[in-house]
Parts: sequence; structure tokens; C-alpha cells
Amino acid sequence: MSPSDRTNDLVARDLAHVWHPFTQQSVWGDDDPIVVDRAEGMYFWGSDGTRYLDGVSSLWVNVHGHRVPEIDAAVRAQLDRVAHTTFLGLTHEPAIELTERLLGTAPPGLTRVFYAGDGSSAVEAAIKMAFQAAAQRGEHRPRFVHVREGYHGDTLGAVSVGGIDLFHATYRPILLDTRMVSSPGVLQPGQTRVERAAEVLVELAELLAAEDGLVCAVVVEPMVQAAGGMLTHDVSFLRGVRALCDQHGAALVADEVATGIGRTGRMWAVEHAGVVPDLLTCGKGLTGGYLPLSAVLTTEAVYAAFLGSPASGRTFFHGHSYTANPLCCAAAVANLDLMAQHSTVARAERVGELIGEWTAPLAGYDGVREIRRVGTMTGIEVASVGERTGFAVCQEARRHGVWVRPLGDVVVLMPPLAIGDDDLRQLVDVVSDAIRTVVR
Ligand code: PMP
Repeated sequence: MSPSDRTNDLVARDLAHVWHPFTQQSVWGDDDPIVVDRAEGMYFWGSDGTRYLDGVSSLWVNVHGHRVPEIDAAVRAQLDRVAHTTFLGLTHEPAIELTERLLGTAPPGLTRVFYAGDGSSAVEAAIKMAFQAAAQRGEHRPRFVHVREGYHGDTLGAVSVGGIDLFHATYRPILLDTRMVSSPGVLQPGQTRVERAAEVLVELAELLAAEDGLVCAVVVEPMVQAAGGMLTHDVSFLRGVRALCDQHGAALVADEVATGIGRTGRMWAVEHAGVVPDLLTCGKGLTGGYLPLSAVLTTEAVYAAFLGSPASGRTFFHGHSYTANPLCCAAAVANLDLMAQHSTVARAERVGELIGEWTAPLAGYDGVREIRRVGTMTGIEVASVGERTGFAVCQEARRHGVWVRPLGDVVVLMPPLAIGDDDLRQLVDVVSDAIRTVVR
């Protein structure tokens, strides 16, 4: 079969029965789907032989590029031992090693690791933990506070603490009873981010006072509300949330699924603010972008609330068939080792600076509303020139060999942390040209 016949055949079979995530299936076929065949470094290839630069790290997960010899070898070596055993009542070396590695990087005071699968399931575990820990300390705290434009995943607990109407409003009738504060990243005209942070903190203070003692956790995305459109906020927001949580006995859940593992030019985004949360979730880049694995890091204080006799009912009755899968853990250990060897977090910081420098000319362009960035996490908000402007920009970039995926009219640049200067330059140039072509 010729490459184009093969592509057509695969696309037809996909269209016949496959249902894709976050995809309007009625237009998916019109958008000329790429069938990914293979990948190497910063690139992947479609089944027709076309090469694409992976400008969003395969949805914000990839760290060192694709087919990294060290991670490949670690997964293969683990395959030769055991692919999977349950983590309920058994343990294994890759998970133990990973826990030590992860805690070696963690903000001080986070000393316990609970594993989950995707980012959503880590958030789900974290909010259940926060609620149960409070309950087992004798406090009835049924309420969660979260932030407008926040995104924490698609399971119902995670959706409950989400704040993006397009994704979440449909489900409100079946969600937890939560309270939402405004986004510190959505500014009023003429307002600075510092002023906005102060304003939202007043809102939060009033809300916590009104809900006196009922709130078990405040859930935030530190530094960047990613899916909300790469909305960035000032460090004073996180510091203020920490202080208010302490004042009201609420746990601070920092969802670092998108921002963690070096994405913002620090290992953890909370480091920018010098804040330590009670629960920290991570996922995405944890395995270097290889396999689904997420984790909740927490304190001895939270952990201690679950201790008791087996009959006490204080156990965390939560976990999954594939919790702490050994292949995933082996990939994650290899990833963290490589990150340490290659100073990948420092590279991410540099990559972010270069993105800032090279996108600067766009800031003066009429078609660009705002460029927001922390480390490598970049959102270029373009003016809308009809339906799906962001998507049109990405399709134009695709014609020039760069794969990016927008958030509405926010064009996202989020390359693998280890991307080299030349590939990064290509990414920024192609996307800049695409914006100038589409948004006139
Ligand atoms: N939290 C945040 C901050 C995220 O950005 C995401 C995914 N984009 C999630 C949670 C959910 O992660 P997953 O898609 O792996 O379930």
C-alpha cells in the first residue's frame, strides 16, 4: 500500500469508530488528521512521511524529546523483569526509587507520595485526601474553594474544582458543592497583576470568613492557569492563599500537573513564590512524556491523619488497578535522573528566556493581544478574525512542519524542556509567521 493509501485507510477506519478526547467529531475528519507513525527527538512523522516539530510536547508532557535512549532502556529493562503487579498489598523497587528521587526534588516538608495514573486522578486523590484528613481530625469541612478559569482534569471531583465554563458548566448539576473566586490572571483594564492578586485575595478572605471552618481545601494552579489560556499571576497571590489557608485551617492543594517537573523553569512552580502546599499533584512530565503516571505529594501531618488500626476506618480507600505501574515508575526514575544529569530545569529556564526574546517582536503586532509566559509555558493570545482563529494559526504552522494546538484563540508554545536553540528558533519563527499570515 502506498503511504497515502495507507493514511487514507487508517483515517477512514478511525472515523468509522474512534472517539477522540476534546474533539468535535463532526469536523475532526475535515481537519485532515495526522496519523503518527514514529518520532525521534523533537520531531514526529505522519504516516505519509511528513515531519513535524512537536511544539506542544505532545500536550505538555514531553521533557527530553521522543525516543530518549536512557528512558527507552529503562522501560525495556523493566519489561524484562515485570510489566505490572498491583500496588495494593505489594511494592516494588521502581516505585520505591521513584519516591526517593521525587522527594529529593520536592519543596521542604513534603515527605509522602501517593501514586495515581493521569493528572485528573491525582487531583481526585488529593481532594479526597484533604477532605478525609480533616474529617479524621474531627472537622466537618465539606467545601472546596477553587479559581475561575482553573482546570484540574475531567473526572467529576476535578471538574468540580474547575472553572472553565465551556468545559465544566454542563456538569454543574452533578458536581460537588464548591465556592469559586475570580481568576488572578484575568485583569481589569489598566490593572497590574499585583493589584489583581490583591483584589482576588480580598475576595478569598471574605469567602473563607463567610464559610467559617467549612472549607477543607483551596485548589490552585500555581503561577499559570494553563488550560484557562496560560493565564499568569503574581507570586503574591500564592503567598496570600497560603496565609489565608493557614488562618482558616484549610489545606492548600497546588495542582502542578501542568506546571511541575521543570515546566516553569523551576522544578515546581510554587518555588517561584517560596510557598509549600499541603498537597501537590504532578503528572504529565513525570515520566518524561512516555507513560501515564501521576502522584500526590503531601506532608506528614496529612499522612498522620490516616493512621490507625485497620478497624478504625481511617485507611485511604482509594487506588487503581495500575497504580504505580512499574514500567511507568522506571520511565520516571530514568527521566528524573536525566533531568539531574543534564540540568534540564536550568535549560527550561533558558528556553523560556529565548521564547520571551524571540516572541518579543510579536508583542507590537496588531493581531496579538497579549503574550503570557512563565518558563516554557507560553500563550500568545491573538485577535479573533472569525471562528477558530487559534486553530487556523495552528493549521498554518502545520503546513510549515510545526505541530501546535491552541486553547481557543490562545496559541500555545510549550516545547520539550530540552529543546535545542535551532529547533526552538524554528518553532517561534514558524508560529510567528503563521500568526502574521492568519491574523491580519
Ligand atoms: N491539572 C492541570 C493543571 C492540568 O493542566 C491537567 C491537564 N491539562 C490536569 C490536571 C489533568 O491531567 P490529565 O489530562 O493527565 O488527566
